[in-house]
Amino acid sequence: MDDPAVFLNLGEARFECTYGRGCDGICCREGRPLMYPEEVERLDANLPKILPLLRPEARARIEKAGYLSGRLRYGLPTLRRAGDWCVFFNQGCVLHKLGAEEGDKFRYKPAVCSLFPIQQDAQDRWYVRQKGLEKERWDLFCLDPAGTTVRAAESLQDEVALAERFDREEKERQRSLGGAEGTA
Ligand code: SF4
Repeated sequence: MDDPAVFLNLGEARFECTYGRGCDGICCREGRPLMYPEEVERLDANLPKILPLLRPEARARIEKAGYLSGRLRYGLPTLRRAGDWCVFFNQGCVLHKLGAEEGDKFRYKPAVCSLFPIQQDAQDRWYVRQKGLEKERWDLFCLDPAGTTVRAAESLQDEVALAERFDREEKERQRSLGGAEGTA
């Protein structure tokens, strides 16, 4: 049995997403999510059904130049923008909505967006991003724990479950790598 995933501040963190209730989706306007190779593969394979759901200018941008920008983060490509918004934003995240319709809202969405505002520190420990913590640089009002009384442990149950899944998958991957090396 694997050790459970470690969450540093889930007990005290506060987080409330107010998209549609005062927030117009600022994280999809200011963010530049990075994409892992397997996520790019999945999007490429499903692009024909995604394109018709996009804003016309975003669709035109992708058809001309692709959905990845030339900017890298941690050596990985990031999503392109069209008209100041992520190309996949159209009154909400199209990838989220399409995945939800198919039974898994995280199916097509980049991991960094799906987990937000949860991420890992330098020691691979999970934490909820909060103003003033871990040199948080993104000045989003939803990352300010003073802005809500909603406990992150309540509001982020799906994101926490996803982080735990990623944790398990990574441990399995490490184990299988160890096993493969042991048999070499
Ligand atoms: S992929 Fe979706 S959630 Fe992520 S920035 Fe783009 S529109 Fe927002």
